[in-house]
Amino acid sequence: MLQAPQFTSFNPPRRILMGPGPSDVYPQVLAAQARPTVGHLDPLFIGMMDELKQLLQYAFQTTNPMTIAVSAPGSAGMETCFVNLVEPGEKVIVCRNGVFGERMRQNVERCGGVAVCVDNAWGEPVCPERVAEALQQHPDARFLAFVHAETSTGALSDAKTLCALAKQHDCISIVDAVTSLGGVELRVDDWGIDAIYAGSQKCLSCVPGLSPVSFSATAVAKIQQRKSPVQSWFLDQSLVMAYWSGQGKRSYHHTAPVNSLYALHESLCLLAAEGLEHAWQRHRTMHQLLADGFSKLGLEFVVAAPYRLPQLNSVYIPAGVDDTMLRSTLLHEYNLEIGAGLGELAGKAWRIGLMGYGARRENVALCIQALSEQLSAGR
Ligand SMILES: *Cc1c(COP(=O)(O)O)cnc(C)c1O
Repeated sequence: MLQAPQFTSFNPPRRILMGPGPSDVYPQVLAAQARPTVGHLDPLFIGMMDELKQLLQYAFQTTNPMTIAVSAPGSAGMETCFVNLVEPGEKVIVCRNGVFGERMRQNVERCGGVAVCVDNAWGEPVCPERVAEALQQHPDARFLAFVHAETSTGALSDAKTLCALAKQHDCISIVDAVTSLGGVELRVDDWGIDAIYAGSQKCLSCVPGLSPVSFSATAVAKIQQRKSPVQSWFLDQSLVMAYWSGQGKRSYHHTAPVNSLYALHESLCLLAAEGLEHAWQRHRTMHQLLADGFSKLGLEFVVAAPYRLPQLNSVYIPAGVDDTMLRSTLLHEYNLEIGAGLGELAGKAWRIGLMGYGARRENVALCIQALSEQLSAGR
């Protein structure tokens, strides 16, 4: 017999989360998650899931019937798009300007696809001219994949122009909107996005672990014409949809994360009540306040002003500042989490998130105050 460990409940402190995600969860969302668990085929729960689909359609600005939440984090949403769409031998133009574009390339290759990379420097948006060139050079490409909001650098790419280019060249667009959904303008139908995935824990300020996805009629047709079955049983949308589609014929596929879906429903109700455009504007306003404070502190942004994400602010760490020590002081003395640099920017930049519920005046003020105190203390 193993001895029973002598642990008691885990009681985390209430941190202020201003990193690259998870973001501060709305108190109403945490409360929703604590409501009683019901069966995942309970008619009341199924009714809630139908509302959830409509709320997701609103957030994505789409009428796509295949709009659901994958029962797993953003990375699983990414994988859902690639495994369902890309068949062995098919060519995908993959734009890389940070960590997540590179993950897309790895997904393509694991599906047996052929990735053609279009690279931009970290901190730059995806360059539409380079994408146009690649599309011309590879007329056999079937897909264009890119990250709308690169969380590793804080750069926003022009999804509308990129998706229009994809359409001109008969390519299906696959868009990472994990950090963009709810934080910046995003219009799936107007921009002609074919496959898109997002995350619950960034600008929706829901708990981590769910990935909203949506597929256009073009993407659905491509999935239906597959020659080989999707290699992932769990992520196969043709099976998942039998569970998510209504009309009383819902059948068991996997046990939905019941309470997490309550949380997502609540966070999307909050987004709908605020209004998408108001939410986008609020992120811009809070970003401007933060940027004003940072400029007084002499902090420099990694990304040029026109391409800055309001919800993810990358700034260079001033010379002589101990990155690890400063972030640890913020965490332990201010209860404030900011993000470290990732990949090429590790040790060189901080990533400060203003996502969803986190995009509010008191957070901006605390972050500026804390950095001001600690940066002057270190000099
Ligand atoms: C966070 C993030 C992901 C991965 O989401 P997880 O929920 O961590 O799996 C993918 N793409 C981008 C742009 C992200 O910011």
